[in-house]
Amino acid sequence: MYVNTNTFLTATRFRLLIQISFTLFYLYIGLRFAAFISWAVGSTDVFTPKPPSVEGFLPISALLGFRHLLSTGQWDTIHPAGLSIFIAILLMSFLFRKGFCSYLCPIGFLSSLLERAGRKINMAIIPHKWIDLPLISLKYLLLGGFLFVIFSMDTKSLEAFIFGSYNLASDARMLLFFTIPSKLTLAIICILFLLNVAIRNFWCRYLCPYGALLGLLAWIGPSSIRRDRTTCINCGKCTKTCPSGINIQEKIVVVSPECIGCGECIGVCPVDDCLSFSIYGKKHISLITIGIGCVSTLLLIWLWANATGHWNNEIPHNMLRKIYSTIPIYAPPSLLICLARL
Ligand code: SF4
Ligand code: SF4
Ligand code: SF4
Repeated sequence: MYVNTNTFLTATRFRLLIQISFTLFYLYIGLRFAAFISWAVGSTDVFTPKPPSVEGFLPISALLGFRHLLSTGQWDTIHPAGLSIFIAILLMSFLFRKGFCSYLCPIGFLSSLLERAGRKINMAIIPHKWIDLPLISLKYLLLGGFLFVIFSMDTKSLEAFIFGSYNLASDARMLLFFTIPSKLTLAIICILFLLNVAIRNFWCRYLCPYGALLGLLAWIGPSSIRRDRTTCINCGKCTKTCPSGINIQEKIVVVSPECIGCGECIGVCPVDDCLSFSIYGKKHISLITIGIGCVSTLLLIWLWANATGHWNNEIPHNMLRKIYSTIPIYAPPSLLICLARL
């Protein structure tokens, strides 16, 4: 027996461990960034360096940097870590399905918790395909819109954005957006929470253009979930459990852009070796390969970026203070700053 209950439980626990570890890491860099902002707006003289990994939360800026890299061969010097993380995520999505979504993305983690909560109260449904398919197309339309605008920009316009004041402090604007949300933002977040409980992975399934891009890369990538139809008993458990609502029991190979590589289907399948994770057609690859592969890709790109000067930006301190003083950022509470300096 290759995929037994213990193996699956180990894979599930491993995934949860990575999700929790990364969520704690994101909280830590958020605190460090808040401490940096506190210095940048002049509420303290103690300098805390800006954590470069905070730039991973700027996918649009990274996409512009990527486009600029393709047309000029020059790395983004304003958010170099953001571009490095973006490329790592593209790579891991191509190689390990949407492993970023199922292991590393904090919104994906939150979505999966809300989905579980929804299932407990008999919700978390997938709407009928006549509603579902047009809604799924929304994220591709959004992605298409972003790609069209960004790829029709000339180098001059790209550089005007990359070196412009908005992009220079876009990480602080992101912090501001989440820490001092407007009433409208709060209302939208509450509605999205409820929709994520009622409809399985509502945000990721219908609205996230980043997930759409990663799904397309996974779709053309070498990994898949394979079903052995000679041993399948058509119990339907795999389809029922899939967080992405994929009709697995009708497929031989699952390469759908919606598959996040979570392995839930493999775990519930009652027939030994009937479903398995596969890379380049090689079946029965351990499920933890996805998590290990994603984290290793990120670590390798981080090591490379640090060694080659593609991680830290070189903006002088006095200029940083000038940049961040132009937007109305509040000084974070001092207790948080102390925690961040630990
Ligand atoms: S679809 Fe978007 S929000 Fe959802 S897990 Fe993937 S990247 Fe994160
Ligand atoms: S349950 Fe299976 S098919 Fe569905 S998203 Fe997870 S790995 Fe992909
Ligand atoms: S859970 Fe396994 S046996 Fe049941 S339908 Fe899916 S692949 Fe077939």
